[in-house]
Amino acid sequence: MFIESAPGGTVRSGSIEVICGSMFSGKTEELIRRLKRANYARQKVEIFKPTVDDRYDASKVVSHDENTIHSTPVSTPQDILPLANNIDVVGIDEAQFFDESLVDICNYLANKGMRVIVAGLDMDYLGKPFGPIPKLMATAESVTKVHAICVKCGNIANHSHRISVEDTLVVVGESQSYEPLCRSCFSELFPPLEVREGKSDKDKRELLRRPE
Ligand SMILES: [Zn+2]
Repeated sequence: MFIESAPGGTVRSGSIEVICGSMFSGKTEELIRRLKRANYARQKVEIFKPTVDDRYDASKVVSHDENTIHSTPVSTPQDILPLANNIDVVGIDEAQFFDESLVDICNYLANKGMRVIVAGLDMDYLGKPFGPIPKLMATAESVTKVHAICVKCGNIANHSHRISVEDTLVVVGESQSYEPLCRSCFSELFPPLEVREGKSDKDKRELLRRPE
């Protein structure tokens, strides 16, 4: 099995690839690997990320192991369009922080023949699908889900559990604020939904959030 599709023939065809998963799963490392590989082939590569992600360095895509590649911070997905002329490969990191217009922008770029590679969290800290990622997964040619390792039991982890006290959704993650948990360990902290007619357990979920 190929982890990514092989380049096509002589006719350039655009596409969307999504790399998603929890924190500490290696999403950005995988994005950087694909972009560097395209760079070696002398393809023109540009990387964008939302300005909200200001950790470490505003002008670089920086993964936690400090494997870096230069990027351009943008406020909205629309800002990518004038910057993506004559580009072969468009990389987008931390895509969960963009709004859903990112889906249309990625499709527009892919329809123009560009290879668009999007990396982002698939779920927020409550285990809910995050921002534009679910729709991008639906429209992408290729989806790669990467995983972390659960800090409690060592199984495959797909949740980013927040261990800091902030309660806004857009808290840019750093290692001291989150920990990767598997489904089983996460569900001990956030018991599974009670599927009961007419009752949402959203409020209950909020109340159950993390024992202090
Ligand atoms: Zn676990």
